[in-house]
Amino acid sequence: MGKRTSLLPQPVPVQGKLQSPQSMASKTPVGFIGLGNMGNPMAKNLIKHGYPLVIYDVFPDACKEFQDQGEQVVSSPADVAEKADRIITMLPTSINAIEVYSGANGILKNVKKGSLLIDSSTIDPAVAKELAKEIEKMGAVFMDAPVSGGVGAARSGNLTFMVGGVEEEFAAAQELLGCMGSNVLYCGAIGTGQAAKICNNMLLAISMIGTAEAMNLGIRLGLDPKLLAKILNMSSGRCWSSDTYNPVPGVMDGVPSANNYQGGFGTTLMAKDLGLAQDSATNTKTPILLGSLAHQIYRMMCAKGYSKKDFSSVFQFLREEETL
Ligand code: NAD
Repeated sequence: MGKRTSLLPQPVPVQGKLQSPQSMASKTPVGFIGLGNMGNPMAKNLIKHGYPLVIYDVFPDACKEFQDQGEQVVSSPADVAEKADRIITMLPTSINAIEVYSGANGILKNVKKGSLLIDSSTIDPAVAKELAKEIEKMGAVFMDAPVSGGVGAARSGNLTFMVGGVEEEFAAAQELLGCMGSNVLYCGAIGTGQAAKICNNMLLAISMIGTAEAMNLGIRLGLDPKLLAKILNMSSGRCWSSDTYNPVPGVMDGVPSANNYQGGFGTTLMAKDLGLAQDSATNTKTPILLGSLAHQIYRMMCAKGYSKKDFSSVFQFLREEETL
């Protein structure tokens, strides 16, 4: 995509920070579509920063607490686009994103020229590129900005955003994304945010399976799981899955393993991300031996009833696999 003149309000420096003219006056409403495990706390952080919201979710219960707080709930993505010229989407899959942007009652039906549309879902980079083309034809701007950090970071406003799109528009996106994340990184052209996210999640899937295997082996060798986690976290096996999101019940508080693997990042979503990694690896002729194996493991878990549990339930899955 070539350089283009921004149709959005241009950011101006204020005490070393970039603020748009809008943020200096009263804030205009921001659209938010997809208020699930991640979208819910992300939207709440926008409210905390003073942005009124126009929201939509296909599952009406997801909007209820926002409606009770006085936020505007509407009945389609097209209605969101009518009332807001900056919209964030946080949806499960590529298919949902296509429906929300290009469907019969999608955002594109009513999008205004100069609108900024940011998709924070993890989707296929090729789909992000296709959506960007359609959106650009309507005179609006699209950026892919998937996130890392999980539900905890979404609640505390400490997500990492990986942003792809036209560089001149990055500051405008940063103004909103900075309310929900502590790291907002520009990755390059449209689709590169998704590329970075897919690589991260493939590594996360592999390290979660590795952590679960090591913990399970240690427990079967007679080690106390809390002690083993402490040792790993002081040693070279330490990783995010061992020290921040340990998969073994009783090792940490406030993580899905402490709550029967409820909430968090669904196994079905991890299987989806590994499928995206698999497709990308095929397209680029890249060997991803462990990534492919992780994909098979998470798909098998989905088939065996784990799809709605957090992806750290791979520990429970392994516990239940007795081998000869
Ligand atoms: P979720 O399933 O909890 O929430 C998705 C929400 O989107 C739901 O409320 C659902 O009703 C809504 N939705 C689905 N289709 C819709 C449609 N057509 N129109 C309007 N709303 C629709 O998913 P999540 O865990 O919040 O994840 C969202 C995205 O973020 C996924 O792409 C996921 O891979 C990514 N992600 C999740 C985590 C995590 O820890 N959960 C972390 C990083 C990235």
